[in-house]
Amino acid sequence: MGIIAAIDLGGTAIKGALFDGTGPLTKKNHPTEAKKGYGHVLQNIDQLIQRMADNKGIKVDEIRSVGVGVPAFMAEQGRRVVLAPNLGWSDVDFASDLAEQMQKPVFCNNDANLAALGEHWQGNGKDIENLLMVTIGTGIGSGLILNGELYQGKSGMAVEVGHMVIMAEGSHRCSCGRQGCVEALTAAPAIVREAKKLMDVPTDCLPDVNITEAKQVYQAAASGDKRALQVVEKAAYFLGVALANILNFYELDVIIIGGGVAQAGDILLNPLRRTVARETVFFQRRPTEILPGMLGNDAGVFGAARWAALGEAKKRG
Ligand SMILES: [Zn+2]
Repeated sequence: MGIIAAIDLGGTAIKGALFDGTGPLTKKNHPTEAKKGYGHVLQNIDQLIQRMADNKGIKVDEIRSVGVGVPAFMAEQGRRVVLAPNLGWSDVDFASDLAEQMQKPVFCNNDANLAALGEHWQGNGKDIENLLMVTIGTGIGSGLILNGELYQGKSGMAVEVGHMVIMAEGSHRCSCGRQGCVEALTAAPAIVREAKKLMDVPTDCLPDVNITEAKQVYQAAASGDKRALQVVEKAAYFLGVALANILNFYELDVIIIGGGVAQAGDILLNPLRRTVARETVFFQRRPTEILPGMLGNDAGVFGAARWAALGEAKKRG
């Protein structure tokens, strides 16, 4: 595949890697500095790629193309950013603008789609035909591989598992404006919100009741705090119902859970597996495996490299 620059663009950091046919040659990060404006972020991506090339003694000319995962709703099969709340962008022609900045072909897609593609290429989804990857952090992202290919829908905005409504009435308002979305009930801010209600008295497991991060709740649950377990199991239940709905629709081979919250491991995955098994049992199917991501935070750059390679191949016809 020659050398490809892979970028995972986040709200605070830009993760980069250079790939050859066998895997990543080097990895580096750069602050995103989104507040300094759109053009500045494009320059930061350019600089990061330059720095990685210098570091490996590669000329930038030797880099054939750039793949980028963007935290955004994207249309036109990943060419245009409709809305990127964490970057403060709306309606920008990101792929063309970066291609002009870099003087190279640029292939973009939603970051969660590319994380799914990364796990499918080199991670826990390798050689799996049909899989869903759900990335849980501040929000919930998801990407679907159907018949070995990234499924995008008509314009590229398909598969928003985070915005599947689980509790339509009397529930929490989601960032998207609807009520009772999976994201509003199970992402990190929901974990913190629910924990604050229940966990207001310090215990041995939870000496500090000033809960600001979901990680504190997962840690307390892992060390046996019953209230924390209750919060985690409730979130796992809502997510599990959503995943079961998808499995009843698509009968996938594997579901991969990634992102910061997924580092909680079995304390989240086990109640999730139980709910999914219970909610799909009437079909008497072989249970679908629910696995943690294998590539961790690198899933995005692996997917970006793969997306660029696929884009190049498509262009060549
Ligand atoms: Zn929503």
